[in-house]
Amino acid sequence: MIIQLKNNSTKTQIEEINNFLKTQKLSPSFVQTQFGKYIIAVGKNYPDMRLFSKFDSITDLHRVSDNYKLVSKKWKLDNSIIDLGDGVIIGGNEPAIMAGPCSIEGEENILETVAHLKENNIKIMRGGVYKPRSSPYSFRGLGIDGLKDFYSECKSNGIKIITEVMQSSQIEDMIDYVDIYQVGARNSQNFNLLDALGEIDKPVMLKRGISGTIEEQLQAAEYIFSNGNEKILLCERGIRTYENAYRNTFDINAISILKEKSHLPVIADPSHGVGIRKHVGNVALASIIAGADGVIIEVHKQPQVAFSDGQQNLDFREATELYKKIKGLWAYKKLIS
Ligand code: PEP
Ligand code: MN
Repeated sequence: MIIQLKNNSTKTQIEEINNFLKTQKLSPSFVQTQFGKYIIAVGKNYPDMRLFSKFDSITDLHRVSDNYKLVSKKWKLDNSIIDLGDGVIIGGNEPAIMAGPCSIEGEENILETVAHLKENNIKIMRGGVYKPRSSPYSFRGLGIDGLKDFYSECKSNGIKIITEVMQSSQIEDMIDYVDIYQVGARNSQNFNLLDALGEIDKPVMLKRGISGTIEEQLQAAEYIFSNGNEKILLCERGIRTYENAYRNTFDINAISILKEKSHLPVIADPSHGVGIRKHVGNVALASIIAGADGVIIEVHKQPQVAFSDGQQNLDFREATELYKKIKGLWAYKKLIS
């Protein structure tokens, strides 16, 4: 169960509740985030709820028996919104569109992408500087210097950035140059990394594991939340199945299910989801209908010479067309729902 506490609850008040919970054979964990204080009590049976009325510092009690709790919609019916500042909001009234190359390739690549995004009024640029690559001989990213250039060019153009963090030791070095940390599919259950990202006050987009279940993704998100960071986005990027006609099996169902089970915003990644340029647009549009709050799309001025994932990058013309369709479809969806 989730016990919601007043923000001014004292250590003594929290201890009293913890002691009571232990007498009821429940094991308590205290959670403090940017926004609130909670006790998560885990056990076989819940006590009579009336017994909690003697504790002044409790504001609400929620019976959530799932393995994930704080990320569940069972206690928080309102969808969470991630505010990146300067009017850039994810999970609000507009679709969040994040676009950019798979890897940041250098100044020219940053500048031409920024110009393309500005022309299309896209406010979030993606791009990896630490790249998880299947082969150690492939391009592995420009590292922290590349990140600094990426961030400063975007900042001076009013664009936020999302980039992948691969290990906890990178978090601190990156923190002044990141608007959203991305946790990639390969790190989706790197619990040390998730714990560490829970301790900072920056949004984190958590991708689904390569063969991860929806429940595993939600439990991974719970690691971040329960360590103190409520600013989480969930990302569907496809899973590995027996099908090999495309890169991954993009799970459109997961989008609808995640929106039902969690209050966190859901972002679709059709680029890695299908992995073939000519299908990315259709899958992106299907995601919007399935309930996604936004998309993350790989775009490149010349996909054929991209340092990584060129086969699934849209060129600027294709991307421009897709942004228009996403915005149009979003408006249409609002109209009919
Ligand atoms: C990426 O976004 O570039 C990436 C590596 O994605 P994933 O972790 O989903 O494979
Ligand atoms: Mn990629």
